[in-house]
Amino acid sequence: MNTIRPLVVIGAGPAGLMAGLTAAERGIKVLLLERGNHLGGKIPVTGDGKGNLSNIDLDLSHYNSSSPGFPLAALREFGFKKTREFFEKIGIKLYTDQGGRVYPYSQEAASIQKLLVAEVHRLNIEVITGIDIQKIGKIGSTFEILMKHLPSCYAHRLILATGGLAAPQLGATGDGYRWAVQLGHHLEPPFPALVQLTSFLPHLGLLDKLKLAKVEITLFIDDKLKANASGDLLFIPCGISGTAIFSISRLVSLALAQGQQTVIMINFTPGLNYQELFQSFNEQKNYYPQKSLLLFLQGFLPERLSQFILKTLRIDFDLTIGLVSEGKINNILKNITNFYLPINGTQSWKYAQVTCGGISVKEVNPETMESRIVPHLYFAGEILDVDGDCGGYNLQWAWSSGYLAGKAAAQNI
Ligand SMILES: Cc1cc2nc3c(=O)[nH]c(=O)nc-3n(C[C@H](O)[C@H](O)[C@H](O)COP(=O)(O)OP(=O)(O)OC[C@H]3O[C@@H](n4cnc5c(N)ncnc54)[C@H](O)[C@@H]3O)c2cc1C
Repeated sequence: MNTIRPLVVIGAGPAGLMAGLTAAERGIKVLLLERGNHLGGKIPVTGDGKGNLSNIDLDLSHYNSSSPGFPLAALREFGFKKTREFFEKIGIKLYTDQGGRVYPYSQEAASIQKLLVAEVHRLNIEVITGIDIQKIGKIGSTFEILMKHLPSCYAHRLILATGGLAAPQLGATGDGYRWAVQLGHHLEPPFPALVQLTSFLPHLGLLDKLKLAKVEITLFIDDKLKANASGDLLFIPCGISGTAIFSISRLVSLALAQGQQTVIMINFTPGLNYQELFQSFNEQKNYYPQKSLLLFLQGFLPERLSQFILKTLRIDFDLTIGLVSEGKINNILKNITNFYLPINGTQSWKYAQVTCGGISVKEVNPETMESRIVPHLYFAGEILDVDGDCGGYNLQWAWSSGYLAGKAAAQNI
């Protein structure tokens, strides 16, 4: 058997990097194995390229898991304060926006990746990229990692940080799930979360790429009100995206998987209610009755959205407001303030930012991220059944769980 290494970390995304750095800082010799050709995984594309790496409000309510209290220990031990200290120590200045979202001051996510990689070099962590792991087994208490084109590698301790299934084009493979299951773990079924939603409603294509800065949405599942959200809304060719949608997409994903009926009600004019719009219609009708309906709507809606509403209701754009009946204007204004959009799916994993579900955390110690089934096996990051809201919560989970796993794996080797 080759030399047995003290600690091997598989997956060099944010969670694996944090785990490896934490262990190496404690004097442990770490080997980092990464399938891709670079370290840092998705970091450069996070937060629209600006890297929303944390949030000042790390309340547990921003996290989801089938064991809801599971993330608490990690967030307590490595919360915002320690995260800030860590990044400042490695040379990354941070800034916080008005919503509490934390970014690197450079406003470039790539700077997070570069400075983490510099730490990997400073701490002499051994790195092998481009590896193809075939199997992970156990010989007694030693982990055996079988690789294609390379001799097997052996380890006393192993951290799996291979992420989930979201964004396969950026390296997600789901391999870690397979290895963990082979070692005796169970999987909570994975679904895409923080993902765009699709609808079969005709004419949506008219709105492609239209972004509305602020809308209010209400989610109904099987006719029951399930959630309210507000934020921006971005139309895509066959559906909707944006922060308002991301915040409820997890619920939609789970509901659709159970065959439930999902409808989103959109208020396109928050701050302007039905009565105000109706009064404005009557004023405009007296002021300039020859004005077209389309032009009237453009007084408070973007042109393409005005066209979409009229087209959906099969109403002539050129109808003059002086000739619009009360029933018709009622219908139009109700659709502007309460537009019902049936949802028939989520976009594929390619468009998801995060995975909900993953390795069942019932089989993992929340204080150490160590497996309760296989001693000296640890997990970190998105591979676990924990996902966070949009706003820096998922990277924070990678830092916090990675820190705990690296710290625990470095003890008593
Ligand atoms: C477009 C986009 C934007 C996002 N923006 C934000 C944001 O602004 N804020 C935020 O908090 N979260 C954001 N997220 C989510 C966040 O990036 C993830 O939750 C986080 O990267 C998870 O970290 P991880 O290390 O657990 O997994 P990953 O980042 O997925 O890293 C896993 C690593 O394991 C490697 N790997 C996979 N399979 C193997 C294998 N078989 N062998 C060896 N290595 C393997 C991968 O190549 C990768 O390097 C975003 C996600 C996406 C897709």
